[in-house]
Amino acid sequence: MKQTVLSGIRATGRLHLGNYLGAVKGMLALQEDSTIDTFFMVADVHTITTPYDIDELKLNRREVIIDYLAAGLDPERSTLFLQSMVGEHLELSFLFSSVMSIARMQHLPTFKDKVKQYPDHATMALLNYPLLMASDILLYKANLVPVGIDQEPHIEIARQVARKMNEAYGTDFPEPTRFATKGEYVPSLQGSGKMSKSVAGSFISLTDSEAEILERLKAAPTDDGKGNLQTMPQGVKNILQFVELFSGAEKRAEYEAQYEGAGIRYGDLKKELAASIAAELKPLQAKRAELMVNPKYIDDVIATGATKAQAVASRTLDEVKEKMGLG
Ligand code: AMP
Repeated sequence: MKQTVLSGIRATGRLHLGNYLGAVKGMLALQEDSTIDTFFMVADVHTITTPYDIDELKLNRREVIIDYLAAGLDPERSTLFLQSMVGEHLELSFLFSSVMSIARMQHLPTFKDKVKQYPDHATMALLNYPLLMASDILLYKANLVPVGIDQEPHIEIARQVARKMNEAYGTDFPEPTRFATKGEYVPSLQGSGKMSKSVAGSFISLTDSEAEILERLKAAPTDDGKGNLQTMPQGVKNILQFVELFSGAEKRAEYEAQYEGAGIRYGDLKKELAASIAAELKPLQAKRAELMVNPKYIDDVIATGATKAQAVASRTLDEVKEKMGLG
């Protein structure tokens, strides 16, 4: 069976290491396989499900395209597009809402978390977020979705929608699964929770310099550097996870041995870690600088991507409307 991939990132700001390791690295790996069709969008419509600034959204959705290109996503091999330019996403999500119960959507942990975070914005758009995501995926009949582990409940909704639509209307949607990367859960720098754009102090941006990375790492909580691995505080475990992700498992094992022996000198560890992270980000930042001076190229990528995505999306939507009696 032909493999098709879809993924997206909201246009809420510059990408951080969580987006990079949890999502973009998976996208890059899948783009490498020429037998797989890859669709990567900027989820700009998803951005309006929580409070946002109009001017920032306009800017950020373009910035995400630039980040994609800087990271190595290639418009010759992948379809890169803005979700809002392909209206089929919205139309199909409404059709999907006819097969899902309100209760199922209200009980999603991701919905409850967002309502806690933004108690004055418990909107229908927020409740519908997972159905729009199901529509994003199923419009392209994607069976693989490279996203972080936080998105698993939403992928489950997409599978359920696919099953219900297939049963009720005889559509042929695949049941998508998540494509996991080594960085499927990147922790916050603050000692608990995940790295997130909406939590200041939790993240390292892909555009940060080595000095900025070091400053952010310096603020991360540690202990006195010695003790038992079993009782190691979560903040220290998180730092060692970053060491493993950027400097390798051997380096982590070295630090763990120090923790149980003479002790870790966090000043040195954080300097070394900042240098490893900066080394990985350097080529992306150089590419980003090149892209920034060529706005016409970015415009072309966005326009071409929308046309390519829409050709596939409109075919699927027509099929579904026909089967639902709306053709
Ligand atoms: P968002 O910014 O919420 O639109 O997320 C975009 C992508 O980045 C999704 O695939 C998320 O699962 C992924 N992502 C966001 N934060 C993290 C994190 N801390 N660890 C791993 N993946 C993440």
